[in-house]
Amino acid sequence: MLELVRDRVNNHLKILGLNCMGNILTETLDDAQNKGMSYLDVLDRLLTEEINHKEDQRLKKILNMARMPFRKTIDEYDFSCQPLLDKRLVMNLFDLEFLKNKENVMLLGPPGVGKTHIATALAIKVAQAGKSIYWISISDLIKKLRENALVTIRRRHSTASLVIVDEVGYMPLSRKDAHLFFEYICSRYETKSTIITSNKGFGQWQQIFGDSIIATAILDRLLHHCRVITIEGDSYRLKEFRQRNEKENKDKDQATEEPLAWPAFENTGSWRLE
Ligand code: ADP
Ligand code: MG
Repeated sequence: MLELVRDRVNNHLKILGLNCMGNILTETLDDAQNKGMSYLDVLDRLLTEEINHKEDQRLKKILNMARMPFRKTIDEYDFSCQPLLDKRLVMNLFDLEFLKNKENVMLLGPPGVGKTHIATALAIKVAQAGKSIYWISISDLIKKLRENALVTIRRRHSTASLVIVDEVGYMPLSRKDAHLFFEYICSRYETKSTIITSNKGFGQWQQIFGDSIIATAILDRLLHHCRVITIEGDSYRLKEFRQRNEKENKDKDQATEEPLAWPAFENTGSWRLE
């Protein structure tokens, strides 16, 4: 008889899509009997587990759809490697007020300083708040916009509370592509937040977009409501590489060998607006 009721309850939970409750029902009821838990406590535990499970699933779905290159949190970011970076400015972003105010975030700096890391950490925080996110490199975005996919892109991106457009500046854009990017930026302007990462300071944006008028128009929209974080430091990738290399040299007892010379990062334009 008891088995029959359990089967029926399990079936009802399945129909209602409460699969987690179904999975832990038997163990929870056994535990309740051993510990003398009240009906209310049992119900409370089952519902709490179901809600936690559903939130986990939702977060996983949002993160999978975001297509981020990697997932790193801000706890994994070592601020001591970037002594010139204002930690407070970065951590302030994590109260997500910028998202509420539909502000943009610009992360500027040479390669390897953690721009994408900080952007993805922010995106994870936004996803944890139940909001949708989307990551795209500028080259893929331009490809999609060229394929006349602005409508599709707009639909997908307009539902995303946050879009990260990564790697702006790694390749110069033609005037036509710059216009497509301008239209895209306009479509999110004052309605949704966008994070832009770039290895070029504002002084070089004219070169990226091949035209000072379009560069100014893009910057005008982006910077109207924007928080700008500039990371002027050494590449973490190269630092790790150098440490590995030094360790290998030591291990091989070749500590006297000449260390590798690192290519200097050249940023001829200013990081700031003149
Ligand atoms: P960028 O986008 O500026 O080129 P990334 O964010 O891709 O740099 O960082 C390159 C790699 O180095 C990533 O694996 C990232 O997690 C790591 N990284 C960069 N800066 C730091 C840091 N300060 N602390 C920990 N990891 C870092
Ligand atoms: Mg990057």
